[in-house]
Amino acid sequence: MRIRPPTGDQFFVRALNKGIVLNLLRSRGPISRADIAKATGLNKTTVSALVDELLRQHLVREVGMGESSGGRRPRLLTLHAGAAFAIGADLGVDYFLVVALNLQGQPVWKKRVRRIPGPDPKGQVAQLADLVDEAIAAVSSAPLGLLGIGVGVHGPVEHPSGRLLFAPNLGWADVPVGEWLAERFPVPIVVDNEANAGAVAELWCGAGQEVSSLFYLSVGVGLGAGIVIDGEIYRGTGGTAGEFGHTTIDPAGPPCNCGNRGCLEVFVSERALMGYLQRSGSDPTATGPEEVFQAADAGDATAIAALARLGEYLGIGIANAINTFNPEMVVIGGPVSRAGHHVLNAARRVVEQRALSSPRARARIVISSLGEEACAVGAGVLILQEFFRLPQTKGNGLPAPGRRGSAGRRGPYREEAELPWTRPDRVHYSTVRSLS
Ligand SMILES: [Zn+2]
Repeated sequence: MRIRPPTGDQFFVRALNKGIVLNLLRSRGPISRADIAKATGLNKTTVSALVDELLRQHLVREVGMGESSGGRRPRLLTLHAGAAFAIGADLGVDYFLVVALNLQGQPVWKKRVRRIPGPDPKGQVAQLADLVDEAIAAVSSAPLGLLGIGVGVHGPVEHPSGRLLFAPNLGWADVPVGEWLAERFPVPIVVDNEANAGAVAELWCGAGQEVSSLFYLSVGVGLGAGIVIDGEIYRGTGGTAGEFGHTTIDPAGPPCNCGNRGCLEVFVSERALMGYLQRSGSDPTATGPEEVFQAADAGDATAIAALARLGEYLGIGIANAINTFNPEMVVIGGPVSRAGHHVLNAARRVVEQRALSSPRARARIVISSLGEEACAVGAGVLILQEFFRLPQTKGNGLPAPGRRGSAGRRGPYREEAELPWTRPDRVHYSTVRSLS
C-alpha cells in the first residue's frame, strides 16, 4: 500500500486539536484521557494519540491515578508548566518590567528597573533587550526553551507591523520596537499596547477568566483601554482601538498631551490626581501618587477626597464604556488600581447614576488583581495564547539546548517549527516575525 505523506491541512488540524487538549489541561488538569474526550468531543483514539505526542514533547505529564468509574482507575494528566516559557516585558514610561512565564502564565522570574525617560528610543529598547537576555538566561533549562517575547508599550501600536505610533508620555513617535528586538532575538516577537496586554492578562490569569467580554482600563501616567469581545482583543482596523483616554468629555477642558482639550485622561491619571490634591485647599504632604494611596489608606481626608474625585471621572468613562460595549466585566488596572476601593466606590456611584440600567446590571466592575504586573504578564500571555492555539515544536519536540545552529542560535531558542508559527490569515495581533 502506498502511504501518502500528510498534507499541510492534516498538520494544521492535528496542531489545532493538540491546542484544544493542551488548553483543557491548562484550565482543568489533572484530568484523565476519557474526560478529555468527553470535554472536547474528540474521540478516544484521537485523544490517546495526541496525549502520547504531548507526553513525548514534554508538554504533558502523568501525575497519578484518578477515581474509578467502574473499571480500571484512569491515569491523570497535567500540563507540564515548566516545559517552555515566554518572556513578557512592560516598556513603561519610567521603568522596565520583564517577566518569564511558564506555560500556566505564572511568572517564574521577574525584574523591575527604574529608568530615566529619554529621547533615545533605540538605546532604551537596547536596555530592555539586556533585561530580556537576563530573563532568558534565568530560565534557559526548560526542555522546549523560549516560545517568544511579548512587549507592552504605552501608546497606540500599528497593526500588524508592531510599530509604536506615538507615545506622548515618552515623547516618542514611530518607533519600530519589534523590528529592533527581532534583530537580536530569533523568536516570534509581539508588540502591543499595554492596555491590550493588561486585558489579555485578566482573561488568562486574572479576574476575567470566566468572561468573554471585558473592558480593561489602565490608569497611570495616562489612561488606556483594552477591549475584549468574544474572548479576543478588539484592535480596530489599524490596531489603535482602545485610545479611550483621548475621548473628549469636556470640550472646554484643560489641554491634553495629544493636542486636544478636555480628554478623559486629563481628569483620570496620576497627574490629575496630584492636581486634585493641590487644589483641595489644604496643605498636602504627598509628593507622588504612591504617597497619596498610602495617605488614603491611613485615613487622610484630603487624599481620600482626591481619589474619590478621580473615581468620579473614571465612573463617567466606565458608564460610557458600559453603554457602548455592554461588557460582562470592567476591570480597573494600572498603578491607580493600588488605590482600590477609594477609587472603585466613587466610580460605582457615578456608574449607578449615568449608565443605562440594563447593561449596568450585567457589568461587574472590579479592581485588577494583577496590579502593575498586568502589562508584562499579558505581553507574555500573547505569546502563550498563540502557542496554545497551535502548539508547534520541531519533530518530536526535543529541544537543542546549548547547541549553536547554523544561524548561531543559542540554547533556549527552538529550531524552525515544521508549521509556520502562525498562519498569516490568523494573525490577530501586532506581530513581528524573525526572518532568520
Ligand atoms: Zn488627549
